[in-house]
Amino acid sequence: MVTLKDKQFKPYISSDKILEAVKEVAKKINSDLAGESPVFLAVLNGSFMFAADLMKEINLPCEISFVKLASYHGTTSSGTITELIGLNQDLTGRTVIIIEDIVDTGNTVEKLAEILNNKKLKSFKIATAFFKPTAYTKNIKVDYVGMEIPNDFVVGYGLDYDGLGRNLKDVFVLA
Ligand code: 5GP
Repeated sequence: MVTLKDKQFKPYISSDKILEAVKEVAKKINSDLAGESPVFLAVLNGSFMFAADLMKEINLPCEISFVKLASYHGTTSSGTITELIGLNQDLTGRTVIIIEDIVDTGNTVEKLAEILNNKKLKSFKIATAFFKPTAYTKNIKVDYVGMEIPNDFVVGYGLDYDGLGRNLKDVFVLA
């Protein structure tokens, strides 16, 4: 058991199992994108651990940037604006792979797709360590999934509860 603030979490997915799944994802990316030179965009904060493990298994000539989605309220007429920060390179004509920690409802993935669709990419793919198929509400294809999990709240392997737990190498679920 792990206690984070007021909540207890029990072991759920071991580090060994996660790393096996990450290797499978890397294998698929290496074979699907053979001959290409993709740009990986790791979405902070949660994806840092998955990004590091995944990149060690990628054998393509590739680049990586760390980005963050930032939402703020614009003028009264424009409502909430979502911006991608940390992207300092031109992606025109590039093959881009988003690295996410977990895809839940798909809201994040949808916002990223909207932003990247305006950038004249060659292609755009999504890789996530964890995917909750029963929570997902979007039509955007999630191309590479480490593991599918039920609609439970998990921490560890980059995922936090109120800022804590990102350092845990195994994944834990609310007890
Ligand atoms: P979505 O936009 O797909 O609903 O949610 C994606 C984001 O919600 C993730 O990047 C993550 O920050 C957070 N999230 C979704 N499910 C979980 C979960 O089970 N545990 C934690 N710690 N964060 C989650």
